[in-house]
Amino acid sequence: MEKRFTSLLMKWHTLSNTREMPWKGEKDPYKIWLSEVILQQTRVAQGWQYYNNFIHTYPNIRQLANANDQEVFKLWEGLGYYNRCKNLLFTARQIINDRKGKFPDQYEDILALKGVGPYTAAAIASFAYNLPHAVVDGNVFRVLSRFFGIEEPIDSSSGKELFTELAGKLLPEKEAGSYNQAIMDFGAVVCKPVAPACSICPLQKHCIAFSDGRVNQLPVKEKTLQRKHRWVYYVLFEHKHTLLVHQRTGKDIWQNLFEFYLLETPEAVKWDEKQVKAWLREQIGMQKADVLHISPVAVQQLTHQQIKGQFIRVQLHNIPPFLKKHEWQPVDRLRKLPFPKFITQYLETAFL
Ligand code: SF4
Repeated sequence: MEKRFTSLLMKWHTLSNTREMPWKGEKDPYKIWLSEVILQQTRVAQGWQYYNNFIHTYPNIRQLANANDQEVFKLWEGLGYYNRCKNLLFTARQIINDRKGKFPDQYEDILALKGVGPYTAAAIASFAYNLPHAVVDGNVFRVLSRFFGIEEPIDSSSGKELFTELAGKLLPEKEAGSYNQAIMDFGAVVCKPVAPACSICPLQKHCIAFSDGRVNQLPVKEKTLQRKHRWVYYVLFEHKHTLLVHQRTGKDIWQNLFEFYLLETPEAVKWDEKQVKAWLREQIGMQKADVLHISPVAVQQLTHQQIKGQFIRVQLHNIPPFLKKHEWQPVDRLRKLPFPKFITQYLETAFL
């Protein structure tokens, strides 16, 4: 399973990874460090221009170390979290003064730099020197938790330990840099936090979250477990008087009960026909489908959680391969299946 994950991921990276970033393939540790510090609290799209400006103005670490503080801060303007900029200057000068301008080339020495944590150190060590250190961040937690179906909360100390150990095992020693790039890109463009592109995912066949219908419930966060408000959107896929149903598993509410295709989001989503069609096209890969009905928002109060959501009926012209592996039940059998109250209330009033 572990070997399969790595080989499928690397295959995707080689054949299909088209994600572009200005620092991609870079071997200069100074430039990698700069890009990673910029990205610590900044989205790639925003960081891109800043990175180019920095590299253009200070092409090497000596020029950054010799720069005037105010000018560097001016260049950083708009990125926020100015501590990062202070650390950049401090570290650049430290490397010039204490290490004769040579960027450290061992993981522990990179990690010792101010403002550099394990993730950034692993990225620099693997990209610049191909050292076998796996990057472990939210992207990696999410991908691993879904593919291997791990329910350990990613924000608990035992969870962090478990995922870090697994990430280390998955890393191919001789291709550490490529592998780290692959998993970061995969988490950003395929196995995304919301609406992952499962329909086109080359790992789908072996993905446990996908086969168990738990994609939207993983990764688990301790904080999320205690949350008060949840947004659930059920898509009722209909085809020739049958409906896609799914039995809930996992340690969550409504265990073992049935439901429809679930899309759980961290916040409310305003659905209309256009948006549903766009979602079907982009996330399910379905070009032809009719949106029959979008219900008003339904609410259910549980002891510790308030559930809010809507039901979206979609008539399919045919069942795409992606949905074939799900269970399809005749409409007149629905009464026989155990659904949570949240769903039966809707079915009673609107459907059956
Ligand atoms: Fe992630 Fe979906 Fe692919 Fe599984 S099938 S790895 S959940 S994108």
